[in-house]
Order: sequence, then C-alpha cells, then structure tokens
Amino acid sequence: MSQHFPFEQFIKFSDDKSDINIEKCEKQVPITDQNGDFSSDEMLELTQEIKNHIKKDINPDKFNTYFNETFFVTEISNNQIKFLVTTNFLRKVIQNHYLGFLDQSIKSALGKSFEIIIETNQSLNEMPPELPKQSESYKPKVENNFNATKQDLNNAVESKVIQHFDTNENIYTGLLKEKTFDNFVSGPSNKMSYAAAVAVSNKPGQLYPSLYIHGGSGLGKTHLLHSIGNAILDKFPRKKIVLTSASAFVNEMVDHLKDKTLNIFRKKYSQDIDVLMIDDIHELKNKNFTQDEFFHVFNELYKQKKQLIFTSDKHPNEIDGIAERIKTRLYWGLVTEVQNPDLETRIAILKQKAKDSDIHLSDDVANIIASSIKSNIRELEGSLIKLGAYSSINNINIDVEMAKEILNLDEDFEKKLSYESILETISDYYKIPIKDIVGKSRIKEIANARHIAMYFAYHHMKATLKDIAEYFGGRDHTSVLHAVKKIQQYIKENGDKASQIYEVETRLV
Ligand code: ADP
Ligand code: MG
Repeated sequence: MSQHFPFEQFIKFSDDKSDINIEKCEKQVPITDQNGDFSSDEMLELTQEIKNHIKKDINPDKFNTYFNETFFVTEISNNQIKFLVTTNFLRKVIQNHYLGFLDQSIKSALGKSFEIIIETNQSLNEMPPELPKQSESYKPKVENNFNATKQDLNNAVESKVIQHFDTNENIYTGLLKEKTFDNFVSGPSNKMSYAAAVAVSNKPGQLYPSLYIHGGSGLGKTHLLHSIGNAILDKFPRKKIVLTSASAFVNEMVDHLKDKTLNIFRKKYSQDIDVLMIDDIHELKNKNFTQDEFFHVFNELYKQKKQLIFTSDKHPNEIDGIAERIKTRLYWGLVTEVQNPDLETRIAILKQKAKDSDIHLSDDVANIIASSIKSNIRELEGSLIKLGAYSSINNINIDVEMAKEILNLDEDFEKKLSYESILETISDYYKIPIKDIVGKSRIKEIANARHIAMYFAYHHMKATLKDIAEYFGGRDHTSVLHAVKKIQQYIKENGDKASQIYEVETRLV
C-alpha cells in the first residue's frame, strides 16, 4: 500500500470509470457508501488503512482498547467520514481525548481532513446500525454487543455494583472464607488493629480476652473479624466460633423470647462458645432488654477466659444509649482504632482486590482511583467492580480515560484543587521551587512545569485564562492558551509526556 491511502481508487471504484477526473469528481459526485458505491471490502480496507496510521502513534494497549476491534468506517463523502464504535463510552472517550489525533491519522491516510462523525449502535434508537453490505469478512467481533441496548449494558454493570453494596449485614451464616489476613492489607491506618487481630487468633482467650475495634464505615472491621475466625479455625479446628452482628443478636434473642426458649439462647451464648465476635456492637443502642442479656453473656464468657471481640463505629466511651456497666466492660480489654487509609495503603488495597478478582489494573489507574476515593474502602472496591464489569461486558481494557469517564473522577478533583495545591504537587514532582514555576524563567523544564500547572488550573479548577494569566505573574492570557494547547497536544500524542502528566495528575489533592 502506498504511503497515502489510494483515495482516488475509491472514487474510481465508485463510478466504475477509469478515467474520471478526481477534482471534478470531488466537486460533483458525492462519494459515499450509502448508495452502494463502495463494497464492504473496500470500506474494510479503508478502516484498516486509517487504523494502520493510528497504530503508528499510539501505544498498543490504547490501540487495542479504543480502536482495534471496536472502530469502523461506515460512510464517507467528500467532506465527512462516519465511524461506528461499539459503545457510547468509546465514542465519548474518542471524542474527548482522541479527536485531534484521529484527524491526523485520517489526514495521513487519505491526504486531507474530513469532518468526523462518530456513531454508536447504542445511540441510534437502540437499533443495530446497518453495516456495509455483502462481505462476510466485514463482521466485527463487536456484533455480539449489537443486540444489547445501552440500557442492557448499563444494567449489567450497575447490577454488579449493587450486588457489591447490597450485602445484608444482618445475615451471619458463618465465616466468609474469602476474608482472610492474607488478603487484608495492613498499613499505618490499621496497623494496631491488624496486629491485635493476629495476636488474638494465635492465642485466643489468652493475650487479650476482650478486643474492641472501632472506626468509620468500610474501613475493614468486619473483614478483620472474618480473618480472625478463619485463622483460629485453621489452627484450632475444634474451637466453637460465633460471628454475629448486634442486630442479629437482638433478633435472635427476641425470637427466643417469643418462643419462650430464652434458656436455649442463654446456654448457646454463655456455655457453648470459645470465641464470640459481635460486629457493630453500637447497634445494641437503646435495646435495654438485650443489653441485659449481653451483660450476662459477657460476664460468663469473660469468667471462662473465652475470647470476646467487638467492633463499633465509636470508642466505647462515645456510644450513646448503652448502659455504663456495659461500656465499662467493653473498655476492659484492648481497644484499637481503624482510621482512613493513606494513599499508599489505598493503592495497595486496590491492587490486592484487582488481583483477587483477576482484573488487570495498571499503576496509573490504581493511582487515580485511590487519589480520588479517600475514606471508604468499600467505595474503593465498588469502583473497581464497576470498572471490571464495564471492561468485561464491553470487552475493553481499563485505562485512565475510561476510569475517569466511568467513575466521574474529574469532578472530585475540581472541588478541591487550588493554585497552591497544584503548584505544590508540581513543585514536588519536578523538584522545581514554586517561585520559579510562577516566575519568568524560560528554561525548558521550568516552562514545562508552568505549562502543566496552567493546564491543571484551566482543566480542573475551571479557572479562566485571564485569571490564570494574572496568577502567573500578570502574563498575557494568550500565553496561557498556548500552554494549555501544548499540554493538550502532549496528551493527544499519548507518549511519555502524557504518562508523566497523568502521573502528576494522580498526585493532585
Ligand atoms: P467495615 O466493617 O469497617 O465497615 P468492611 O470490613 O466491611 O468494613 O470492609 C469493606 C470492604 O473493604 C470489604 O470488602 C473489605 O474486604 C475491604 N477492606 C477493608 N479494609 C481492607 C484492607 N485493609 N485490606 C483489604 N481489604 C479491605
Ligand atoms: Mg462492618
């Protein structure tokens, strides 16, 4: 194939006359496949040629994700070229991130620019698009998804996410085998609780007969309880372990009360247990009758040197609606806290979860998710599940653009970023003092850092060009525009500079 795609040949094919004047043809004859002017093989060839040019300038992962099997020319006229992509998501990503780049590739392939229209089967009233006719070979893999409407795909993704968040905390049918110390990531935020949990499972009832772990929601308390239970069963298979929640404990007691079998309930909890774990003990709040029963159970098991473990969202002293005598007891043992994990721990947790679920997650994607979701590990997992579902249902890889689109991560940034925080991050990353970044130096590295700072201010803070120009030492606003465009160009080109920009971006807080 020649360096430029033989667009002329297409025109000739379309009219079946070999001596057609190209210029005349471009002016007068609409070149389109709609009237059957091009065979499907020719459209396939055209698609392939454009893809060859895209492939030259883009990293292979991104090519496979966004173009390889998911992107087809369906129509071409003098000024316009139409593409079909498989999902709205892909269309959005290509439009937001790759349009300039696509324009370049078309120019290289066909020798001129076209107005680019990108369609998906999902947007055409949910009807499958008409593919070019005739050829058997023109059967993209994506046909599988042509029958699935946008709604189907969204539902499939959402239902996975809902399943994740919809665990019924009140049903404790036993230990979850998949929650173990092996897949619990320990970091500064949970080190104490983790160490105490391991110690307790090595010597149940001996070191710390009562352990109380408290902290915010989704920070790993229940996971630790299951890990303790699994570890104890591994070492001491004959030990009787009960893991329940405070609300399940209440319900069980009420059922026995109704059946007038309270004695069975009492016997179970005060005689037949080696390890009692009650999750979310704060839910005994205002349940005075159950608190009495619990008081009794606690005293009995404690006397027998059994192991007691509780979790709660608060320190024992801070729970309302619980009798003082119970608080005192909860406070007797070792009290540890789980706190919000730091960035490094969040990244490690994400990677662990990705590994467990067999999801490929690159460092830059893990970074960007972990930088945006800070306080709740269940949310962190939820994002991963969403991305994993999206990736497998649409048969595409997870990358930064996709993560941002699917998880709406940009919005999160916008709320928090300020000039100061952007400059601090960039100064820290490039080891260039802030005063130089906002100064006048034209040294390449310093100017580059300045351009990136301006780009983030423009993009994430939604600051105006004028505002940015003023902040950066009263420059002309066109110099800011120039900087922003330059960085956009780097991102489009997707080379090393783009990766560097992504990396700095993930560090913004
Ligand atoms: P809590 O009981 O504190 O509300 P969970 O134990 O239910 O939180 O944790 C929420 C989710 O996050 C669970 O799926 C759990 O496996 C996971 N998780 C929390 N902390 C960690 C951690 N340090 N390492 C691995 N997974 C964690
Ligand atoms: Mg919990």
